[in-house]
Amino acid sequence: MLTTRFAPSPTGRLHRGHAFSALTAWRAARDAGGRFLLRIEDIDPTRCRPEFEAGILEDLSWLGIDWDGPVRRQSDHLDDYAAVVTRLRERGLLYRCFRTRKEVMDAIGDAPHGPVEAARPGPHPAEEEARLLDEGRPYAWRLSLDQAREALGDAAWDALSFTEEGRGSDGEHGRIRARPETAGDVVLARKDAGAAYHLAVTHDDALHGVTHVIRGQDLFEATHVQRLIQALMGWPEPVYRHHELLTGPDGRRYAKRDRSVTLAELRAGGMTAAELREQLGL
Ligand code: GLU
Repeated sequence: MLTTRFAPSPTGRLHRGHAFSALTAWRAARDAGGRFLLRIEDIDPTRCRPEFEAGILEDLSWLGIDWDGPVRRQSDHLDDYAAVVTRLRERGLLYRCFRTRKEVMDAIGDAPHGPVEAARPGPHPAEEEARLLDEGRPYAWRLSLDQAREALGDAAWDALSFTEEGRGSDGEHGRIRARPETAGDVVLARKDAGAAYHLAVTHDDALHGVTHVIRGQDLFEATHVQRLIQALMGWPEPVYRHHELLTGPDGRRYAKRDRSVTLAELRAGGMTAAELREQLGL
């Protein structure tokens, strides 16, 4: 049965781009007689707020979107993600990273081979790590691409791929070779939350039997490393359908940080959900 989801982060109110994404996924599920799940991705304690979660539920209901089963709130399941981190760690696939974001970014600037290489800061020398641990400094866990490749073996690494039924950022379509190296050694457990985006997404998609990941093209690049995590964990491979991003009248994409008009504001201005759906071509 086709199972898909909408997985917003409650870091602001939803805008037209979210409405487009949610409606696209919801339609796909309903047209196929499948399941549509709602997941609140709130593991970033610095940016997520409960009032935005309430706003999401209100906006989706206004759009006429219904979902199957209870809403999953990721912050309620941090122990589950921590258990996956432990398993990966025990297999030697993760390393501690005490660096600040700025330190990692500065290193990228200095790197001889550009950003790709430098997003792989590598483990700290043993003595330094021991000292930082001793000082009680917080650390993240990063996935080592080198160890991951070794764990999978060269043949499985080279065969790593996914099916794109939509379009990637470069218009890529069909069976696509996964390029996890473009993401570098991603953080799988944040310093402050014990989990991180790529891990929580792939864990939850597997847990809920998501067969189709339908989401915006801005997340296409994330697919490469998410596919690697699935392979390492033996989780099933969903089909991907990345849709184009909605652009405003000025040709720029709608985004929260641009303070694009929110659904709440459109509603307050008198727009109906039917009018918005028509505007979005849905
Ligand atoms: N929570 C992510 C976001 O709001 C989406 C995750 C996903 O669809 O895979 O950008």
